[in-house]
Amino acid sequence: MHRIVFAFLTLEQHLRAVVTTPQSYRPDHCPHCGFGCLWGHGCYERKADRSADGDLNPVAVPRFQCASCRRTCSRLPLCICPRRWYAWALQQQVLQLLIAGASLRRTAAIFALGYHTVRRWWRWLSTVHEDFSFHLRSRFASLGRSVGFATFWLACLQLMPLCEAMAWLDHDSVAVP
Ligand SMILES: [Zn+2]
Repeated sequence: MHRIVFAFLTLEQHLRAVVTTPQSYRPDHCPHCGFGCLWGHGCYERKADRSADGDLNPVAVPRFQCASCRRTCSRLPLCICPRRWYAWALQQQVLQLLIAGASLRRTAAIFALGYHTVRRWWRWLSTVHEDFSFHLRSRFASLGRSVGFATFWLACLQLMPLCEAMAWLDHDSVAVP
C-alpha cells in the first residue's frame, strides 16, 4: 500500500521526475515496519506505454530500501496503474461512457478495446463500489450526498480524476488494481 504518489499525470512527467526529482517518490515511512529512513534502491522496469509505438517502454519505477528492515518497496506515479496494463485515464473514459448508459459492445468498439477487457473493468467497478464509495465518502464530504452507483461515480469523477481517487484509496490501504 501507499504505492501511489500524488503526482505525475503523464508518463513523460514521470520519466522526467525519475531523473530530475527522484526524492519526490521517497516514502516518509517504510510500508513494512514503519521506520522513517529509506534509501533510493534503483528502479525496476515495467511496461506502461500502451500507445501504438510504445516507445516510452520500458518505464522505470523507483524502488526504495528500508534502512532498518532492509525490505524494499516501490512507488508509482498517478499515470501508472499498479496491476493493469492500461492507464487510469483510458479506464476512466471507458467507465464514464458505461455509466452514461452505453453498452459494453459499443464502448469496446469506440475505444478499440476487447469486449472482455471492458466487461472486466465494468464488473470490477460494480464489485468494489460499496467499499470504494464508503472510503471516498469518508474522505470527501461532498460525495456523501451522491446516492446510487451512477450518481456517486459521476460526482466523484467530476471532483477528481480516477487516478487520484485510486491514489486516495491506496493511501487508505484499500487494494486497487
Ligand atoms: Zn522497514
